[in-house]
Amino acid sequence: MTDFVIQPAPQASVAVAGSQARFPIRRVFCVGRNYAAHAREMGKDPDREPPFFFTKPADAVVAAEGLVPYPPLTENLHHEIELVVAIGKAGANVKPEQALDLVWGYGVGVDLTRRDLQDVAKKMSRPWDWSKSFDASGPCGPLQPASAIGHPAKGAIWLKVNGETRQQGDLTELIWPVADVIAYISEAMTLQPGDLIFTGTPAGVGALNPGDAVTAGVEGVGEIAFTIGKR
Ligand code: MN
Repeated sequence: MTDFVIQPAPQASVAVAGSQARFPIRRVFCVGRNYAAHAREMGKDPDREPPFFFTKPADAVVAAEGLVPYPPLTENLHHEIELVVAIGKAGANVKPEQALDLVWGYGVGVDLTRRDLQDVAKKMSRPWDWSKSFDASGPCGPLQPASAIGHPAKGAIWLKVNGETRQQGDLTELIWPVADVIAYISEAMTLQPGDLIFTGTPAGVGALNPGDAVTAGVEGVGEIAFTIGKR
């Protein structure tokens, strides 16, 4: 047994649908823009850029249920509904044709974003971490194993706030489908079991306020519901 000088952190993990067992989280990769209409609403041309990535800490992923805290340092907390991919096997330089072999399962997540801090970071060419990687910035529902649901390539992806539709898209609108996203990441670093990938959000991102009820889902994967906590 290794002797640590302080207590090691508990293993970050996410629930698995229909099971007491949990999925251990290693790293969290996020695609920057992956739906054309969202790229346009953020002022970018979706046809010109290869995918780019940022990360969240493993323990930023929390259960997408109950209360999710309103983070500090923002006046403009945004929701981004995303299909989440859970990697179960290691792979480097994976071809898109083999990429789905690495996938253990799928979930429904929200890439919470302090948009005001992100706007400043973009303007000043600074990193995005403070806008994307705060505590509880990645609420995620229970994962569904690919062995049970397959590999969803089409179907609605949506998010409502207080019952009002804010985001509504379809997985067919992904600029870079899941297999391509896995291939791209695996060119840059070896994907490892436990890695999660937030695959990008459709158009309609907007502000969340304390007390807002968020419901969201991905057809064929699941639905989530949580409330934003007090400031
Ligand atoms: Mn996102």
